[in-house]
Amino acid sequence: MTFTLPHIALIGSGPAALMAVDRLASSSRKLTLTVFEKRAGPAWKLFVAGSSGLNVTNSADLSQFAQQYSGPPSHWSAALKMFSPEDWIRFLETDLDQKTFLGTSGRYFVETMHAAKLVRAWKKRLEEKGVRFAFHHELTGFNPLENGQWSLDFASGLNTNADRVILALGGGSYEPKETPLRWPLVLQEKDLEFTEFSPANAGFHIVWKDGFLKEADGLPLKNVVFSNAKGSRKGDLIVTSYGIEGTPVYTLGEPGPAWLDLKPDLTLTQVISRLTAPRENLSLMRRAQKYLGLNPAALALLFHMAPQSWKMDLQAFAEGIKHFPLDLESPRPLSESISSRGGLSWNNFDEDLQFKKLAGIYAVGEMIDWEAPTGGYLIQGAVTQGAFVAVHVLNSLNEPCQ
Ligand SMILES: Cc1cc2nc3c(=O)[nH]c(=O)nc-3n(C[C@H](O)[C@H](O)[C@H](O)COP(=O)(O)OP(=O)(O)OC[C@H]3O[C@@H](n4cnc5c(N)ncnc54)[C@H](O)[C@@H]3O)c2cc1C
Repeated sequence: MTFTLPHIALIGSGPAALMAVDRLASSSRKLTLTVFEKRAGPAWKLFVAGSSGLNVTNSADLSQFAQQYSGPPSHWSAALKMFSPEDWIRFLETDLDQKTFLGTSGRYFVETMHAAKLVRAWKKRLEEKGVRFAFHHELTGFNPLENGQWSLDFASGLNTNADRVILALGGGSYEPKETPLRWPLVLQEKDLEFTEFSPANAGFHIVWKDGFLKEADGLPLKNVVFSNAKGSRKGDLIVTSYGIEGTPVYTLGEPGPAWLDLKPDLTLTQVISRLTAPRENLSLMRRAQKYLGLNPAALALLFHMAPQSWKMDLQAFAEGIKHFPLDLESPRPLSESISSRGGLSWNNFDEDLQFKKLAGIYAVGEMIDWEAPTGGYLIQGAVTQGAFVAVHVLNSLNEPCQ
């Protein structure tokens, strides 16, 4: 296939690729732009993310924003300067006509809470700008040509050439039907540094007693402080049949001992005084319910998971409320985690996210070895890198690849 204009091939159609192609399509440079995606439609993982409320970014101060990402701080501060959370919100609101709102937790959500309207509007906008989408095309190999272009092979049998290639193949999480994930094998053939994916932002296994699960499965442990050797974080957790989910665990979770403060707004002394003040002849459990306002999951935890001896001992009971022990076993599998650790090592890239060994090929998004907490940082990281790489690809077109 020959192209009269420079042909930029984007592989993958998640937020990283969509933002990169949007910036390229919106530039004054005339280009042929094709998005190749192995699935039947675009941005599959955004639909998954939207199933629990699409949290697109975070209101954290820009100076703290870059610190949320692993990987070179200089990259993140440069990239976020180029495309900040504010730019992303403006893009969603103005260019895609998707209203957003700021939740109490400092997270921005799209008003519809789902990805469908956003993705539909984005695809339409891109098609109107001349971007071509090629679904059911899974990249299986790529090789350099003598004229400096790349020859791309797809599982569908398609072969095409491109002047620049932006790989945006996503991380290792939530691909239950692909074990092992196929794209790393394609890239490993090129002798690149790759760290195997492992779960990040994942729930953890905890062995619960049956009685506790009967009462608390699916219930929130609201406003608790989760602590372990890595630190402490306040937030909501959800009890599940296999263990526990929620931002504090996603952020700090690791196998080993952990503790919950079930009443973080009160000191131990205040908890004791609330439990002792009433003159009624009530059990400690009833007092905890009546005078501490503990939610049903926290009460069930005390009732079923605490040692019997605590329930007769005011001091031990109060200390348990402030420091309830948990034993985190292992994270949920990669196929269920929100994101992943690992991916293409930063050593593979120059400052523009171009592969040092593969001139003209770039990578963006979660396929690179970076991670960030939940709270909108992941999608923001993907779109920020998409916008960043588009600038460098445009610049590179003025300087032919070696
Ligand atoms: C359950 C869940 C909830 C989440 N919730 C949130 C949230 O609320 N907020 C947030 O910020 N983040 C959230 N995320 C994370 C977020 O979805 C990702 O960080 C983001 O989608 C990464 O974007 P990406 O473009 O790098 O990759 P992806 O969105 O993963 O896109 C990669 C694309 O490449 C395609 N592809 C892969 N290999 C090939 C190939 N060989 N050829 C062609 N195409 C290929 C894939 O099919 C996919 O469409 C959530 C994730 C999950 C799983």
